[in-house]
Amino acid sequence: MTDRYAVFGNPIAHSLSPRIHAAFARQTGQDMVYEARLAPLNGFIDALEAFRAEGGKGANVTVPFKVDAFHYAQTLSERARLAQAVNTLKFEGEHILGDNTDGAGLVRDITANLGLGIRAKHVLLLGAGGAARGVILPLLQEGPARLFIANRTPEKATALAAQFGALGPVTGGGFDAITGAFDIVINATSTGLSDEMPPLPGRVFAPGALAYDMMYGKETPFMAFARAQRARVVDGLGMLVEQAAESFFWWRGVRPETAPVIAQLRK
Ligand code: NDP
Repeated sequence: MTDRYAVFGNPIAHSLSPRIHAAFARQTGQDMVYEARLAPLNGFIDALEAFRAEGGKGANVTVPFKVDAFHYAQTLSERARLAQAVNTLKFEGEHILGDNTDGAGLVRDITANLGLGIRAKHVLLLGAGGAARGVILPLLQEGPARLFIANRTPEKATALAAQFGALGPVTGGGFDAITGAFDIVINATSTGLSDEMPPLPGRVFAPGALAYDMMYGKETPFMAFARAQRARVVDGLGMLVEQAAESFFWWRGVRPETAPVIAQLRK
């Protein structure tokens, strides 16, 4: 029987995940279907339960349900536990497993697709919401010289730095506490959605720096600012495809090729 997967979110109509997973399934010859499901804002768990009752094997979870999915999962991967957010669920009989593949997706896009090392680099992470939390452990595992988390609400950044402090050289604070130049600057704020600019100091990019915006599908003020500062600018489409590939691999045990799928989506 064809295995069934779905992505749950609200809104969900514009999700690229069904296209990405359909491409992976075709490429690897997996007998599966993957659909987008709109979950009511107060009905996420009911929507998931209904999908499981229909025989669903696994799900991706996007805004605004990643924390709900974290509480729903019975067994968590280390990275999901530390992120306190789940973007991938696997249903094994009655058992519900949760993982967070966002950070691995980001790291893979930077290292494998862009060909950049993170080891010994100075990394600046903007934001302390769900997206930022999900990438801290995978970034630290790459061995940066320094990771600074800057957030509009400074307390959230300092709390994250304290939480992850034993795992690597991470500190945090407000945007006004950013000092020095960085090799990699990652925008994990939601400012792109409202065409706002995170309040960065003028000289944040080291020569040849990468400016990575997790947002995709449009040029954000952060990207324009970074371009004007001669940074190498990249959007979050590669991360989206790579996190999907991580989920697919966890579900199916086969790692799909991402480059042709990224190229297809960029057309
Ligand atoms: P959250 O709502 O959890 O967090 C939003 C963050 O943005 C907070 O740190 C918030 O600061 C900050 N922020 C919001 N407005 C401003 C502002 N005007 N100035 C400065 N900071 C601001 O969102 P998520 O973490 O879930 O998502 C963040 C972004 O990442 C989204 O654009 C999302 O689309 C993208 N994303 C992309 C993925 C991909 O695969 N490419 C995967 C996951 C997310 P404060 O704490 O002070 O409120």
